Order: sequence, then C-alpha cells, then structure tokens
Amino acid sequence: MIIVMKAESTKEEVAHVLKEIEKTGLKGVLLQGTNRNVIAVIGDERILPQDFWDVLPGVEKSVPILAPYKLASREGKDFNTIIHLPNGKTIGGEKIAVIAGPCAIESKEQIVEIAKRVKDAGATAIRGGAFKPRSNPYTFQGLMEEGLIHMAHARDVTGLPIVTEILTPEHVKLVSKYSDILQVGTRNMQNFLLLRAVGESGKPVILKRGMSATHDEFLLAAEYILSQNNPNVILCERGIRTFETFTRFTLSLSIVPVLKEMTHLPVIVDPSHGTGKRSLVNPMSKGAIAVGADGLIIETHPDPEKSFVDGPQTIDLDAFAQLMEEMKPVARAVGREI
Ligand code: PEP
Ligand code: MN
Repeated sequence: MIIVMKAESTKEEVAHVLKEIEKTGLKGVLLQGTNRNVIAVIGDERILPQDFWDVLPGVEKSVPILAPYKLASREGKDFNTIIHLPNGKTIGGEKIAVIAGPCAIESKEQIVEIAKRVKDAGATAIRGGAFKPRSNPYTFQGLMEEGLIHMAHARDVTGLPIVTEILTPEHVKLVSKYSDILQVGTRNMQNFLLLRAVGESGKPVILKRGMSATHDEFLLAAEYILSQNNPNVILCERGIRTFETFTRFTLSLSIVPVLKEMTHLPVIVDPSHGTGKRSLVNPMSKGAIAVGADGLIIETHPDPEKSFVDGPQTIDLDAFAQLMEEMKPVARAVGREI
C-alpha cells in the first residue's frame, strides 16, 4: 500500500503517519516526490484496516500496490530515480552514464592507464573487479584488497568514481571503504543476505540480473536492497542463459523498455558479458541506448589479448573512444546525451 500525502501536508503529519505505521509492526518508507510525499507501507498489509489511514491528518488517500515489489514499482513512485555520484555525474538522469574498465584489476599501472583513457573518452565511472567470482577455482581470483587500493588510486588521479563487485556480506565494510558503487553479480542476484547487507551499506548498488532470473525475480531482488532504506539501486541487464551457444549469453534488450514500464529505477546494459564477443560490444551498446537504457558497463583493456579475465569480450581503449563518439548520434536520436 502507498499513502499519498496532501501537497500541503506538514513534516509533523508525515512523521505522525510513519509512527502510526511503525505501531502496527510494519515499516513506512518515505518516497519524497517533486510535488508531494508518498509513504510506502512495507510488510504484510493484510493486518491493516485500509480506511484507517485515509482519516489521518495530512493524508490524501491510501492506494494498494498490486506489484509484490512495492518500493521498486512505478505504482508507488511515478518519477525516475536518479543516482548522484561523487563527481557530480548521475545515473538515470538525462545523460547516459558509461562505466568502463577491465574485468579485473591487474596492477596499479593498468587501472590508472585505463582510468585516464576512459575519462578522456567521456566515461562516467571506472569498473574493475578485485574479488572475482570465477567458475573455475584455479583461475585468477582477483587482487583483493590490493586491487581496491589500486582502484582508489585511479580515482584519486582521475576523479572518476569506482564500481567494483562484492561477493559476500563479510566484505561490505572493506569494499565500501574504497568503492563508490557496489556491484552484485549475476551469480549473487538471489544471495538474499548479500542483498540486505549492500542495502544497509547505503552505497549505490549495481544489481546484475541473474542469468536465469525472470523480470519479477530481478525486481524482487532489487526490493531486498530498497527495503533496507537504500534507494540507490541500478538494474543491469547482462545477458541470460538460453539454448544459444554462439554468444556467451543472450543479451535480452527487450528487458530495458519492460523495466522502464515496471520500475522507476535506472537500467543499464552490459554488452560485454551479454555477448562474450568483442565485435558485438559496439552494435549492442548502440542498441541498448536506442531501446532506452540509462547507461552501459563495458569491459575495456589496453591490450585485451593479455587481459587476465574475459579477454574475448573486452575492447581496447581506442575502440572504446570510438564507440563513445559513435553512440552520440544514437543518444540524440532518442532525446538523450552522452
Ligand atoms: C563482471 O562484471 O566482471 C562480472 C563478473 O559480471 P557478471 O556478474 O554479470 O557475470
Ligand atoms: Mn568480466
């Protein structure tokens, strides 16, 4: 259920409604709108007498939310969520955000070089894995804290915010110390303890779609984070498992406009993991923008052939700069900017 407050309702009236919700054992989450406040009531609402709320001072009406993802749904919040980054850039606003960097941080020199070059090309943030979720336990697992330190150095040099993956709730403190945005990978999309933990961190979170998750499961995973009073969730389509083996995964671009109808959260696309093929990163990036994505996350490396991880889907720094240029007219065609 959502409780829509009157446009002229006071802070005290909002606080009173939140207190009344708390008394019932449910949780009230304030969604500050441009014109008026809305309060989402989270929990099993069946215990609530619906008309009770309508008579509280300052309340305009209460409306049931049909979707199970109460906070992620557009039913409760009909304006887009915009994530504000420390460098003044945004994800989910007018401008398309492009996050670029290697699959894994390999050395200080590597991440600094990449950060400088992708910044020159117009990137919004840098990505890089320090804790890698590898299918094979004998392959490179990441530089761990040393990698985070290198990334933080690259941020100091360029001013670009950092995106890095977090594998377990025990790492929230450590990874949050260095990173501006936490990434929850496809293999952890339904790791509910991790979702709660990144929610509690208060950091913006890029939530990647589970490789076999439905749209509803994806939004319910986002709901775990949002329900910890963390509104800064970015959804990332990164390809799903199908019968097709030519591409590493099947990049399901139709999810972008679908999510735009279902949720107010920003949606970005990962054409690198989504295809597994370097040659497909450029066309699928443009396709993602054409269908309304708010951003992209792209694997880039000075010498992809030598990349420790995911070389075949990684583009080099010149190709990245060229892609940034080529995406501009596509963005303009859909009323956006890069
Ligand atoms: C990654 O971004 O490097 C990664 C492992 O992504 P995913 O979880 O989508 O496989
Ligand atoms: Mn990768």
